[in-house]
Amino acid sequence: MPTAPGPAEDLYVLYRGPLASCNYDCPYCPFAKRVDPPDLLRADRADLERFLGWVEATTDRRLSVLFTPWGEGLTRSWYRDAVVRLSHLPHVGRVAIQTNLATRTGWLADAKPQVAALWATYHPGQVTRDRFVGRCRELDGLGVRYSVGVVGLPEHHAEAVALRAALPPHVYLWVNAADGHTYTAEEERRWTALDPRFGDSVRPHPSLGRPCHAGETAISVLGDGTVRRCHFIPDPIGNLYDGSWRAALRPRPCTNDRCDCHIGYVHLKPLRLREVYAAGLLERIPAAWPSP
Ligand code: SF4
Ligand code: SF4
Repeated sequence: MPTAPGPAEDLYVLYRGPLASCNYDCPYCPFAKRVDPPDLLRADRADLERFLGWVEATTDRRLSVLFTPWGEGLTRSWYRDAVVRLSHLPHVGRVAIQTNLATRTGWLADAKPQVAALWATYHPGQVTRDRFVGRCRELDGLGVRYSVGVVGLPEHHAEAVALRAALPPHVYLWVNAADGHTYTAEEERRWTALDPRFGDSVRPHPSLGRPCHAGETAISVLGDGTVRRCHFIPDPIGNLYDGSWRAALRPRPCTNDRCDCHIGYVHLKPLRLREVYAAGLLERIPAAWPSP
């Protein structure tokens, strides 16, 4: 008799197509206010459609999908449709997307709320706090799971404190250490008061030679189907569309010196963060939240 699939058997798939445009203008981002030409947008849409076909056809694995576009995906109808479509597949455990939450949320009413989730980032200076919190309220009304986060720049701290106070306690607020910023003990304490897991982000994790789930039960997929173990090691290990990804999945040690991005180090085995996040791994919600 077949056993019911469980989270331990999930294949975590991080998908990133060519889209690299964004409606926001964050000073810390290379994709700020970037505009994609129409042919790139058409290619991004076609690539995503092909990927959705692969997910729909790959029913022998339980799949959990996180869309990690370079820019903002939810301003494009095809990403909204993808989240809705995948959320209804019985072999998809989770479908989540990283977003600035600028887009209206009503489309999520068509998604299965137990499966669809958002990883939302608040960008002070691009949107008012009231407007952002209003979007979060809409998600609560729809019963959709989401985390909210900020980049831990010193100039964001007061806004992050105010955001935490404005959000209901059930919403997890994460803080990403800012690239190139070294935190004093006092700064680390202040950010940790907002996000009890800030310690995971504040220093890069030494990873060379350490075992990582990436390439075994997590993969990164590009628009053309190129499969890599993670977004941070460029060597392909196979392709999604010729079936070579299946034989490529096996345990491997990391070949990079460090892993400093949450979507990577959550798979670094010695950190045991899959136990911390469990079913909330892709949308970044610790299983025990609201307890730290
Ligand atoms: S919202 Fe995200 S992708 Fe857009 S400019 Fe800001 S950091 Fe970059
Ligand atoms: S530790 Fe990070 S860089 Fe290394 S394989 Fe895992 S996800 Fe990739």
